[in-house]
Amino acid sequence: MTLPISEGPIDTPPRSSSPVHGFGTRAVHAGSPHDPVTGAVIAPISLSTTFAQTAVGQPLGQYEYVRAGNPNRDNFEKAVAALENAKYALAFSSGSATTAVILQSLASGSHVVSISDVYGGTHRYFTKVALAHGVHVTFTPSIEVDLAELIKPGETKLIWIETPSNPTLSLTDIRAVATIAHRHGIKVVVDNTFLSPYIQNPLNHGADIVVHSVTKYINGHSDVLMGAAAFNDDTLFEKLGFLQNAIGAVPSAFDCWLAHRGLKTLHLRAREATTNATVVAKALEASPNVIKVNYPGLASHAQHKITLKQHRNGMGGGMLSFRIQGGKSAAEAFCAATKIFTLAESLGGVESLVEVPASMTHMGIPKEQREAAGVFDDLVRISCGIEDAEDLRADIMQALEKAVVGPKISNGVANGNGHP
Ligand SMILES: *Cc1c(COP(=O)(O)O)cnc(C)c1O
Repeated sequence: MTLPISEGPIDTPPRSSSPVHGFGTRAVHAGSPHDPVTGAVIAPISLSTTFAQTAVGQPLGQYEYVRAGNPNRDNFEKAVAALENAKYALAFSSGSATTAVILQSLASGSHVVSISDVYGGTHRYFTKVALAHGVHVTFTPSIEVDLAELIKPGETKLIWIETPSNPTLSLTDIRAVATIAHRHGIKVVVDNTFLSPYIQNPLNHGADIVVHSVTKYINGHSDVLMGAAAFNDDTLFEKLGFLQNAIGAVPSAFDCWLAHRGLKTLHLRAREATTNATVVAKALEASPNVIKVNYPGLASHAQHKITLKQHRNGMGGGMLSFRIQGGKSAAEAFCAATKIFTLAESLGGVESLVEVPASMTHMGIPKEQREAAGVFDDLVRISCGIEDAEDLRADIMQALEKAVVGPKISNGVANGNGHP
């Protein structure tokens, strides 16, 4: 192994949008120096909250106090920056804390334009928290078309995109939005949680900041709550880095270590999840029990052209949703009938999950508003894990059969009962 002991060519900024090493090599090696003293290949978890100084104001190394910086957080941030082709990355205690810090960096009186179907927690932050601090957000269902009109000269500071959106998986052309925004000196943020850096790198398409709920694909094992933002701008690094420390919404050393371990297999997991989601989406699309399938990897997706332009190898990712025949009760019966898919919120883990957004993750949104965005009571959202595709397909098909046809008395299985 000839990779250097500490900071090697893989970790050292500045990085470019066409990195020397492939994604898998960067995932495994970026931010993963061998321990210079012991040679340990995996960094120890550095739990110390404070670091010794040799004289007043002269720390031994680069660290002083844990909130300002910790070796595990640094390593993780380097890895995320490398995977998003960014010069910098900052880690936060959650995806929501990442959003909060970015919104906090705007002066009171600032205006933001956002796509309508953003993540529920982001919508809540925009309307209930940012507004109280004098930051006003306008939502639009068709940002590529409306943006120029919605910009308030001098006031609009940020555009917020989530592509694919949740839970209808509609796509936004990042380049089209960034071109308009940059004409007015406005920065573009892309929440890339649903695809992960393996499938989409928003900075390559003109975005200024890419954010992640690390809780989902980057950690990938459903056991860490964390967030991250990556970008190239030096001024942003100063501003957001200052707020990271001043607000203190930082992740623990242990969580950084775990999330970094998860990140090393992101490319394998994201590929497998895409393979599985493609098989499941095609099976659903062919079923008479299904009204509509939303999956960016299908040629039938209304914005499949954007998939081909923006996603690695036109991959669709691991997330999809579909409308089941039979309304709300069929959607609920379906979720109760799957045996491999667990009925639960969240996504991006190795295990497959299923949920009904209208009754779970998106319950807080008024029905009319929800349905205008395509979130009907019969919409089921699926997060494909990395189990075997054929097992997932068979599980979906048997659950569809039970949910739509109704309980089969002959085999004694009464589905949907006992699940309030
Ligand atoms: C989960 C999620 C968030 C929020 O992240 P947390 O880590 O739960 O705070 C933001 N955006 C998207 C798209 C998400 O799925």
